[in-house]
Amino acid sequence: MVDIVCLDMEGVLTPEIWIEFAELTGIPALRATTRDVPDYDKLMRQRLRLLDEHRLGLTDVRKVVDAMRPLDGAEAFLAKLRERYQVVVLSDTFYEFAGPLMRRLGWPMLFCHHLETDAAGRVCGYRIRIKDHKRQAVRSFKALNFRVAAAGDSYNDTGMLQEADAGFFYRAPANVVAEFPNIPAHETYEALLAAIAGAAAK
Ligand SMILES: [Mg+2]
Repeated sequence: MVDIVCLDMEGVLTPEIWIEFAELTGIPALRATTRDVPDYDKLMRQRLRLLDEHRLGLTDVRKVVDAMRPLDGAEAFLAKLRERYQVVVLSDTFYEFAGPLMRRLGWPMLFCHHLETDAAGRVCGYRIRIKDHKRQAVRSFKALNFRVAAAGDSYNDTGMLQEADAGFFYRAPANVVAEFPNIPAHETYEALLAAIAGAAAK
């Protein structure tokens, strides 16, 4: 049985925001994601320093996200999931700029973090809700007697994937998949839906 499906956002439902932003601003160092730097705090401090160095603020990031679209097939995938399960998006993104992508996905429930900005729109910090929040969310759902399936594509998902009753990689890089041989990996929404249905049937 599966009651709740927890999904990572970037890489599963949407492109990576910081990669798009790096391409549009021409700042290659901003391409780094949790796939490259497993330590999220280190990664975010690096991003904020780069934003400062290039005098880029929240408005600039928002403009990029506004122009982004979910991955091909993501809306249909999410709609199919929501017919059968409760769906929660567990992301290490920020409410301050995830809005346009969530609108295009029909406003699924999103658990993520907050950015701190000063009066001029400079991103001066960020507030992580709780350490390891993806794993903590899954653990809490299980404590409420929900059965949980989860899918994600990166290092910051492995806690949630291991904590879930059924965890799956979705289009994860080969090095991440190789490090966690106990987590099955899927490459298409069809295969992932089938895997979740398989877990639900148990
Ligand atoms: Mg991801």
